Amino acid sequence: MTLKEKVAIVTGGSRGIGKAIVLALARAGAAVVINYQENEDAARDTLGEVEESGGKGMVYRADVRHLPECEKMVKATLDHFGRIDILINNAGIRRDNILALMKEEDWDVVLDINLKGVFNCCKAVLRPLLKQKRGGKIINIASVAGMVGNSGQTNYAAAKAGVIAFTKSLAKELGKRGITVNAVAPGFIETDMTEDLPDQLKEMILPRISLERFGKPEEVAEAVLFLAQNANYTTGSVILVDGGLML
Ligand code: NAP
Repeated sequence: MTLKEKVAIVTGGSRGIGKAIVLALARAGAAVVINYQENEDAARDTLGEVEESGGKGMVYRADVRHLPECEKMVKATLDHFGRIDILINNAGIRRDNILALMKEEDWDVVLDINLKGVFNCCKAVLRPLLKQKRGGKIINIASVAGMVGNSGQTNYAAAKAGVIAFTKSLAKELGKRGITVNAVAPGFIETDMTEDLPDQLKEMILPRISLERFGKPEEVAEAVLFLAQNANYTTGSVILVDGGLML
């Protein structure tokens, strides 16, 4: 229980990778704020699983696109648990299309949630983290798409590349305050986000993965947990969890 007494916010904690991160942090002893945007039932189910295993948490609806909502979420966290130690920026969507057919609103919504959402949540936790003077851990979920690009994902890849550059820049700003900022870049992970991708595309990707299978949300959560509880001398780094896809 190395995260006992620690308090974490996980954006998009209701489903998929975020849910696996919530459960891993809670098992390590952290109290976890499970953020969601619209799927309250899924968020409550996740909280139920946390509580069944003896953990503590709360659900909180906030759209990470809007700074005031992120600020209210941080205030609610402080009111409820009295402190904040860990922020996991996981909320994300994809709206894929080739650029010729991509609508402006698909560009905007992906950049707003996947990149501006990270800015908003970091902004919102920064003041309390600095005031507490206990350091802190910020972990951003990027993607291999942000490192090598992906046809049909100019919006998503640009946002995730932005998340990586943001992570490194903020790590430089906050090192002297004892706050680490790292990113985890998953490859192809089996969640709702990838479920509806065409079988043809999945068959094309699979042979490029050294471990010859897609990843599980729990495998991304293991890397996040490592960064949250053990990695005290690691900042500004990007951990790949891609089964060797990038090799
Ligand atoms: P997912 O299963 O589709 O879950 C997305 C989560 O984000 C949900 O909890 C959703 O909340 C939340 N969310 C969406 N928009 C939001 C908003 N505006 N404000 C707050 N929460 C919002 O996706 P996933 O596959 O677990 O992906 C999680 C993260 O990993 C994303 O950043 C994604 O880009 C990244 N990633 C995934 C893969 C992959 O292969 N799956 C690979 C690389 C990176 P609701 O339940 O309320 O809708």
